[in-house]
Amino acid sequence: MRIEMPHEVEWIIDKIRSNGYEAFAVGGCVRDTLLGREPGDWDITTSAKPEEVKGIFGKTVDTGLQHGTVTIIKNRNGYEVTTYRIDGEYHDGRHPESVEFTSNLKEDLKRRDFTINAMAYSHETEIVDEFGGMEDLDNKIIRCVGLAHDRFTEDALRILRAIRFAAQLGFEIEAETYKAIADIAPNLKKVSKERIQVELTKLLLSDYPEKVVMVEATGISPYVTDDFGAVFVREDAYLASENREDGSSPEKTGLAACAESFAKLKALPKEKSMRWAGFLRHMEPNTVRGILKGLKLDNETIDNGKVMVGAAQAPLNPEKPEIRKCLSRMSAYQFEGCLYLKELDGDTNVEEIRRLWKEIEEAGDCISLKTLAVNGGDLMAAGVERGKQFGETLSWLLDLVLENPDLNKKEILLHKLEEKMAGKISS
Ligand code: ATP
Ligand code: MG
Repeated sequence: MRIEMPHEVEWIIDKIRSNGYEAFAVGGCVRDTLLGREPGDWDITTSAKPEEVKGIFGKTVDTGLQHGTVTIIKNRNGYEVTTYRIDGEYHDGRHPESVEFTSNLKEDLKRRDFTINAMAYSHETEIVDEFGGMEDLDNKIIRCVGLAHDRFTEDALRILRAIRFAAQLGFEIEAETYKAIADIAPNLKKVSKERIQVELTKLLLSDYPEKVVMVEATGISPYVTDDFGAVFVREDAYLASENREDGSSPEKTGLAACAESFAKLKALPKEKSMRWAGFLRHMEPNTVRGILKGLKLDNETIDNGKVMVGAAQAPLNPEKPEIRKCLSRMSAYQFEGCLYLKELDGDTNVEEIRRLWKEIEEAGDCISLKTLAVNGGDLMAAGVERGKQFGETLSWLLDLVLENPDLNKKEILLHKLEEKMAGKISS
């Protein structure tokens, strides 16, 4: 079967081949093309040694020379070309102690994690499939190349990659592979939190985010963060209490119920903050912060997660003053996130809140100190003393305006301030 490759990849493979070496597109790009998915990147594997690849192309970037990888820049895109290699012994449960180059493609394919990731392609040979990758693609199965137990012991990150691919592709994990995941789960201790996070983020951003329950089902949760398992306990309790409220008895309980609930995350935009916030939306906002921080997410995602979840849990009526107050405390993006989360939990006011929000925006209502009609200078001129009181006075004025935007005029606000200072209005 012939598959289409970008011209740059064809050019690189041809050039290496015309110099007397073998070269193939390999791994994720072959898998994704066969599935009709757009590959993220095109990796090339070759029998040429790194120095030989450098000799052929002249201009290359040394990306991982010790692992045999050089990058070739063509039309502003980088393509990684890696020499066939055999990974040496794994001692730390994550990286091989050494790598050895080989001239045998099969050896290189054998070191790869899953059968669907261990296929190579060139126009001359077409698909090279030594480990039944095509069959597993057809049957939608994630299966280790070789003995699953050994492969996960070598590199525990593969455990999370298996679950992540299951979520991205909507595949099932083959029985032996699944069993080995549960057995080797404690080895995840050896994997850095960042790497764990990257896999979980890809999982949550995928088309099948409900597969996240596999993290709990296979016993991986304790190695993610201390309180990761609590997310599933909490979700289950939330669903049970919801059922009590509407008087129904649940068809599913436990992780099956959680999976059904997390499937709703598909309705959220494929954005990191949104998906993490959606997944954690029934947790305490401080716990959300703790989990995201523990997984070394960036500060923006941590802040978005905590704020969106906190706001989603607070009641919000479809009334403009309440909406303006909410908007004054967070970014528009966070408010959007909050509404998405409320919608997931069936809040029927969201549509009306969105409509009112649009009106607020169109009217240009003041929702922050930036557009308040008085500023610090005006307060000083009016005789408000610097210090704690200063900020409190500004936010008192902002509150008046959030309640009623018609008051956002300098003379009106200064008049209100005078009255307050004369003791006519108590705050
Ligand atoms: P994607 O880029 O969509 O995440 P991918 O399959 O291309 O998926 P990469 O991490 O880019 O994944 O790796 C490229 C290839 O390298 C994989 O297809 C696989 O053959 C191999 N590979 C990557 N990580 C590992 C690993 N931890 N153990 C064994 N082989 C791996
Ligand atoms: Mg890739």
